[in-house]
Amino acid sequence: MGIASDTLDFILEVSKSTHPLEFIGMLRADENLIAYVFFLPGTVSSDENAVIQMDMMPLGLSYIGSVHSHPHPSSTKPSEQDLLMFAETGDYHIITCYPYEADNWKCYDSKGEERKLEVVEIELEEEEEEEEEEQDELRTREELRW
Ligand SMILES: [Zn+2]
Repeated sequence: MGIASDTLDFILEVSKSTHPLEFIGMLRADENLIAYVFFLPGTVSSDENAVIQMDMMPLGLSYIGSVHSHPHPSSTKPSEQDLLMFAETGDYHIITCYPYEADNWKCYDSKGEERKLEVVEIELEEEEEEEEEEQDELRTREELRW
């Protein structure tokens, strides 16, 4: 399992902009690559703890784990409450910590054991851009017809 470098950058960016509050989200993977983060409605964020309200989880939503930030204390060590959450919400859990630089994060499994997560350099938006180019081409062809 790996994580797209763009997705990791995004996670660190959001951690930074939410600071000093804690941010929490769920991780989604495509094949063996974590490439999506989504925020849950009803997620409570305070300077103490981020709490996932499991009853707010949309039905049929697939996720492989969670992500949250530790503004204070600035450590990637999971808390007791984190371990309870990890056990219920998948097998990949990222914790980021202040100051949220490139190496201020760790990944854990459902038992809270540290696990390796490869950072994969990949362009996630490429497909979308290609589609836009195709549309431009169609538009040009239509104009030529007139
Ligand atoms: Zn935590």
